[in-house]
Amino acid sequence: MIMPGVVTLENVLQIIGVSIGPIGVILVLLIIWCIKVSGKVGELNKDIERLGRVEDDIRRNRELINKVKEDVDRRVVLDARTFQAEVPQALTFVDELSKVEEGEVIRVAEYRKKRGRDAWHWCRNCSNWPTSDFDTRSSRPSSGELCNECKSKDKLGTCRT
Ligand SMILES: [Zn+2]
Repeated sequence: MIMPGVVTLENVLQIIGVSIGPIGVILVLLIIWCIKVSGKVGELNKDIERLGRVEDDIRRNRELINKVKEDVDRRVVLDARTFQAEVPQALTFVDELSKVEEGEVIRVAEYRKKRGRDAWHWCRNCSNWPTSDFDTRSSRPSSGELCNECKSKDKLGTCRT
């Protein structure tokens, strides 16, 4: 039934049906279905495109991950080589450190002053190095004289501390 003033698909089809008959109605329905299907196909194509882009992204990310992995592997190898090269140095250092602990390599200067005298000495090879009855300290005294022989040994680099 045609309702005047109201345009619905049913009304339109009824109008067409009246003018072109049942086969015409089927054809129109077929056309509408085709349009709907083609719309769906368009959406599906867009989805496929999107999937393709996602695939590209995944491939790019995988390439990036592989590159980073290669870099890390290379770094590990390099670090291992560097470490290997540094081991002898480190062992030498440890060796020297143990000597330092034994007091063989570096000895912090000790200052000595014979009791009743003014001059402070710090070279063990000074002819006046006090070996008995002396005051001692580990830093350079601010008061009192400094031994001239120790000073000259220091200048010549022959002072043994
Ligand atoms: Zn001296």
